[in-house]
Amino acid sequence: MKAKLTILFTLVSLLVGLTASAKEINSALDVMTFEDSFTCQDKFPHHSFCEAVEFKPWSAADKEIVSRYLQNINDPRLKFLLQTIQEKGITKLHRVGYTSSWSNNMAQRRVEFHRTAEKAILWVNPVTHVIGFTDAFFNGTPFVDPYAKVERKQLNVFHELVHVYDIALNHISTEDGFKKAAGWEWNGKEFVIHGVDYNQVKADFSAILALVKNKQSALAYAQDRERGRTYGFPTVYGMTNSHESFAEVITYYIFDPTAESYYSKELTEYVKEVLKVDGR
Ligand SMILES: [Zn+2]
Repeated sequence: MKAKLTILFTLVSLLVGLTASAKEINSALDVMTFEDSFTCQDKFPHHSFCEAVEFKPWSAADKEIVSRYLQNINDPRLKFLLQTIQEKGITKLHRVGYTSSWSNNMAQRRVEFHRTAEKAILWVNPVTHVIGFTDAFFNGTPFVDPYAKVERKQLNVFHELVHVYDIALNHISTEDGFKKAAGWEWNGKEFVIHGVDYNQVKADFSAILALVKNKQSALAYAQDRERGRTYGFPTVYGMTNSHESFAEVITYYIFDPTAESYYSKELTEYVKEVLKVDGR
């Protein structure tokens, strides 16, 4: 009798296991959720966070736009990334007005938030676990990436999810594996990329920022891409620090079919390894 019961329980748990794994993730839309409100607290997340970013409910139109971008994040090579985000990542998408930064208020023993002048179109906050889409995301003029042949906003949304993946893996972008593959090294003063004239990279990036400031966003983006490719990276922006480097390298590996033609062999190998493609 006891043996029979054990067999029965095993069968039941096998069935439960099967149903659980049968729930397939087809795209990022199956992983992320739209949230209409957020609650701030006296301690954490402090009220200053809500005051700084101004949460608002999603409109049907905005939700539709973001849903379409999420649905397009469905490459088979993203199976592990999407699973990881679902299991231990930040999945809540919020509609916000602004971007914030944070600091420690030692006297009050709390983290406090401040609205920043920077107009990010979307952001991930690893402290509060919020992904925020600002007005600028929806108002910005859309343009198509010449190599990836998708809207730049599509790339922006995925770029943010790669940050979420990086955070879920405890900032793997700052570990030796990525640094080595991308060439990041400390020169005694700052992190630079091995084998390139890093002062020139910084000058290129300043020139791109100047174009953005001058409202020439499309031209800025075109230059960011063209210059980046000459250095073996998708963008110059992806050469500014290892977090952005990681997000850009994976974003374009997935969406730009020409990426492998300008990535180093080591970089491509690393990306495949970190995404666990090719049965790794
Ligand atoms: Zn980023």
